[in-house]
Amino acid sequence: MMKIRGIRKAFGKQHVLNGVDMDVDDGEVVVILGSSGSGKTTFLRCLNFLEKADAGHIDLDDSHIDVKSSSKKDVLDYQRKTAMVFQNYALFNNKTALENIAMPMIATGKADKAQADRRAEELIDKVGLSERKDFYPSQLSGGQQQRIGIARALALDPKVTLFDEPTSALDPELVGQVLGLLRDIANAGATMILVTHEMKFAYEIADKVVFMDKGVVLEQGTPQDIFEHPKHQRTREFLSRFT
Ligand code: ATP
Repeated sequence: MMKIRGIRKAFGKQHVLNGVDMDVDDGEVVVILGSSGSGKTTFLRCLNFLEKADAGHIDLDDSHIDVKSSSKKDVLDYQRKTAMVFQNYALFNNKTALENIAMPMIATGKADKAQADRRAEELIDKVGLSERKDFYPSQLSGGQQQRIGIARALALDPKVTLFDEPTSALDPELVGQVLGLLRDIANAGATMILVTHEMKFAYEIADKVVFMDKGVVLEQGTPQDIFEHPKHQRTREFLSRFT
């Protein structure tokens, strides 16, 4: 169970997150929707400490984090329970597909080289790219690169995986293969927080849909609640763009 309370973040005078609260149950898939600039990416980055929030608390299993005052060690312990998949894949270009998956396991001390290589082989098979394990990112399609990005996140065995618009940089014909993989991961019981603009997919995969607006959660509910009976005008306006 992840309990997120009061996350705030400003860049200079611009208040991007104004107290975001969210609960994520184990095995739950939470989809975050919201207009461009509503703070979705910043929120995920704050959850992973790629961005340091100005205020807020996060409980995740035995980690109890005050973003302002927790010790570096506690933050590092917490960070190791999360993994992030990026819009632009963020692979290391000078490493092969297999090395991209294995490296973070070694760097975080989760595995030695032999163990990391074994696990990376399993994961690359799971994402259907065994035959391309020795390829460099530039030799892979966007969809293949993102599948490696996803395998790399899973390799860290996270309690919760954060996905920031994982298909938005892909050519339309490659989106399906990545969505299919995300569906498999969700069905296998992973806990996921996912920002996406793929509405049909969101409806299908989400246990909970959260609509963010101006740095707060404006409303949340089941996909049926949000897509079929949105309460707020802002949510209705946002959804109307996709119909
Ligand atoms: P999109 O759907 O377009 O990806 P978003 O909801 O994910 O949007 P964010 O990327 O979180 O929105 O950005 C929210 C606001 O914060 C934007 O106005 C953006 O310019 C600003 N912002 C984000 N990161 C920084 C930064 N490092 N420095 C300054 N401003 C930033």
